[in-house]
Amino acid sequence: MKLHIHDTFNTELPADTVLENTRRQVFEACFSFVKPTIPKNPVLIHATKEVASLLGINEKDIFSEDFLSIFSGQKIYENTKPFAMCYGGHQFGNWAGQLGDGRAINLFEIDYNNQHFALQLKGSGATPYSRTADGLAVLRSSIREHLCSEAMFYLGVSTTRSLSLILSGDEVVRDMLYDGHPAYEKGAIVCRVSETFIRFGNFEILASRQDTKNLKLLADYTIQHFYSEIKSSDKERYAELVKCVAERTLKMIIDWQRVGFVHGVMNTDNMSIIGNTIDYGPYGWLENYDPTWTPNTTDIQHKRYQFGQQGNIALWNLYKLANAMYPLVEEAKPFEEILQAFPRQYNKAYQVMMKQKLGLEKEYENDFQLIEELESILQNVETDMTIFFRNLAHFSTNFSEDENFKCIQSAFYSEDYTNAEIYNQWKNWIAKYVNRLRLEIKNEDDKKTSMNAVNPKYVLRNYMAQLAIDAANDGNYHLINELHELLKKPYDEQPENEKWFAKRPDWARHKVGCSMLSCSS
Ligand code: AMP
Ligand code: MG
Repeated sequence: MKLHIHDTFNTELPADTVLENTRRQVFEACFSFVKPTIPKNPVLIHATKEVASLLGINEKDIFSEDFLSIFSGQKIYENTKPFAMCYGGHQFGNWAGQLGDGRAINLFEIDYNNQHFALQLKGSGATPYSRTADGLAVLRSSIREHLCSEAMFYLGVSTTRSLSLILSGDEVVRDMLYDGHPAYEKGAIVCRVSETFIRFGNFEILASRQDTKNLKLLADYTIQHFYSEIKSSDKERYAELVKCVAERTLKMIIDWQRVGFVHGVMNTDNMSIIGNTIDYGPYGWLENYDPTWTPNTTDIQHKRYQFGQQGNIALWNLYKLANAMYPLVEEAKPFEEILQAFPRQYNKAYQVMMKQKLGLEKEYENDFQLIEELESILQNVETDMTIFFRNLAHFSTNFSEDENFKCIQSAFYSEDYTNAEIYNQWKNWIAKYVNRLRLEIKNEDDKKTSMNAVNPKYVLRNYMAQLAIDAANDGNYHLINELHELLKKPYDEQPENEKWFAKRPDWARHKVGCSMLSCSS
């Protein structure tokens, strides 16, 4: 297997001078060289051929010895020097100091077809940043990352991608429920792919240590490689960097809200500097529309990272990024302007997005109200977000309110919608919505097409990932492949896959992995 290697991060930025793989604080460096731990008995479970082809890896290569050994960490590709990044982060609102790639090891970067990618293994052993943990990942969370990152890509959400999912053959101990019952689970390794894996936290750690010299090097590196649109050479360029990051982050969050994705752990170490969704841990998909929902059991008390707060949290995190960049500019004003504009820009983008979900293009005064009312009545009865918006496209201005209501009826999780008060609220809203639809000039087919392009039919519901995990734990991987294929066309009608266009089954409501997840992965 011939790869088009073009390393930049570990050739242009300062390396930790200590070479031993011991857990420690790392100063005046952006990363530490470290080799992956050799897995006992690696077995390829699934590879993404579309990602492989982006990297110049053909289908024959995927099934080669080389592929398995390189992407399981067994063998180091010639002339490459794997490393772990040093970063810090604010976790759940508090500064946590040095974190770093505790279980991610960057292999190399590839230039292919005028595109640039960094590849990293997740779960291939301890690094200087592993702190008290083992550097490993279990099969269940690796399946979740592998499937979800690809699903997000095909939904049109900016994200890291996943090249491969490999069983390590090693056993990993996890206390899955945090209830004092640790058990052995199968270990696995995912190879993630992204333009870069730099996070907000990479800047924060350097700023926290007053290491302005390396902070500047990292910021210059980031601008040069990922923000070529920034032309200025004076120090304002670092504020401009924050502005560009804010724009990409905003777009990413709006897409999360559009498809019903809840990240679950929006700490600043999990925020990508290029606005990619990164670190698929205890994420979840909104099933019944509930803006206060979080899938993360660790966050259940304060619900800091609940669905409806993701925009605000992004801004909070951008403040931390701006603080980290401040020493390079030494002026607060340019940052304040960017951050103060964010809520307004976010609200505007959110309105536009919600209107697209409703099939509305034109501007009318009461549009905002129409959306707000909808968000409120969607919570009266448990209502499946995905099914609701997908079926809303069946509405017709020629239908009666009852006929239109029937289109969305299958989205309700209970019969409570028959309650007269609730039913009337719906009829009221439907009447307003249909009147508003009449003000658009699009014909009904065009309306449906445009709505279907933003309202997915298929998402990786929490229970679907869990079914794939349960089967995989029994050594059966067919569902991983089936879901992977299904989720490549999330906006298409797939008559043969209608069974996945269904509400969460009742058994999944309280089952671990199907509704709530811990960070134990
Ligand atoms: P997270 O919030 O899950 O993205 O992880 C926070 C920090 O903990 C990061 O620095 C991770 O690299 C590290 N971490 C998480 N799980 C492990 C593990 N099993 N072994 C080593 N480090 C880990
Ligand atoms: Mg992380």
